[in-house]
Amino acid sequence: MGLPNGIDIKNTGYYTKRRSILYNKPLDNKPLDHKLLGNHPWESQRGVTSGNERGFVLKKLAFFGFILTIGIGFVGYQLASTAQTGSDISIYHGAPPVPGTPETSSGPQHHLSTTPAKIAATNPKPTPQITVSPTVKQGETIFITLKHPTRNLNKGSIWFLSKQYPLFAQGNDTFEGWVPVSVAQGLGTFSLKVQDVNGATEHTTKVQVVNAHLSKQNIRVSKGTAGLQPGPGELAAIGGLKKVMSPKRYWDKPFQLPVPDCMNSRFGNLRLHNGKFTGNYHKGVDQRSPQGRPIKAAASGTVKLVKKFRLHGGTVGLDHGQGVSSIYIHMSKFAVKPGDVVQKGQVIGYVGSTGFATGPHLHWGVYVNGMPVNPRQWVKGLNAC
Ligand SMILES: [Zn+2]
Repeated sequence: MGLPNGIDIKNTGYYTKRRSILYNKPLDNKPLDHKLLGNHPWESQRGVTSGNERGFVLKKLAFFGFILTIGIGFVGYQLASTAQTGSDISIYHGAPPVPGTPETSSGPQHHLSTTPAKIAATNPKPTPQITVSPTVKQGETIFITLKHPTRNLNKGSIWFLSKQYPLFAQGNDTFEGWVPVSVAQGLGTFSLKVQDVNGATEHTTKVQVVNAHLSKQNIRVSKGTAGLQPGPGELAAIGGLKKVMSPKRYWDKPFQLPVPDCMNSRFGNLRLHNGKFTGNYHKGVDQRSPQGRPIKAAASGTVKLVKKFRLHGGTVGLDHGQGVSSIYIHMSKFAVKPGDVVQKGQVIGYVGSTGFATGPHLHWGVYVNGMPVNPRQWVKGLNAC
């Protein structure tokens, strides 16, 4: 189908590591200046010993004074070097430093007035780091990770395109959040902000939404199938799965492919039935899979939904925790019941062509904070047929 590969985007660190301790620069770099050495008493006096002895004594005194200064400077630098260990401060504003180039002085500076001994005694604050997907395609997910933030981000949130998304503590002074981008989102660069529970900003960055090059897909269906309507409570049940927000996280990335087959319909295609635009887009991916093949859970979670629907057919919905869920439809048979805890890779049902389907295949989808997102970004090895 000529689908572009490499939909996955790489996360890039956005922080500048910067040393800003007062003692960062060696205090003894002046004596290395050869022009200065040229002015030293023994240099200027060489071969000019006769004459003003008083002047010579004064210069000799000045010379010893200079040696003394070097000595004090050297001891000071040694103390500072010891104190500096582990006291580096990183500020994650601006672009990451380019290896092999000196660190720039742009951006905010921290100045410590503490004595070297005091700095050594203080428990050093770990370096704050933030990782945000710098570009995202329409229909994809922005992943945000903050390590050692300067603020307490418990119950904090992420703001993107005037919408608020939760941040979750992941232990070890780490917070994560995931922001879905609609397939209908216009292209451009938009501000993303991380705030604590009181609305104080921890970090602001920009994320560029790029074109997913969505296409139209016409499906030839029988008159009966084309007119198929959702059953009572069907859409509400699917809507409930989309909005799950359990605090416990069961999932990790990458997800596992539920079936090993190729993708015959990608996420986000605008759907036409018999040439007529449905007003809908494809909210998951289709994998061309044989009837009866076991379907495996893409990630661990709890079974939220097991039901045979008119439109979706045999449906299983999994809640993976922290605003992430997945759905598997058109199943011929179920292998789980609501409330079950499933492990990643566990069989949850079998491939079929129930509901709105023209043949056996697996349609599955991922929801993030209430929105369908492209599952292809969450797995490895999902290739077009
Ligand atoms: Zn589908």
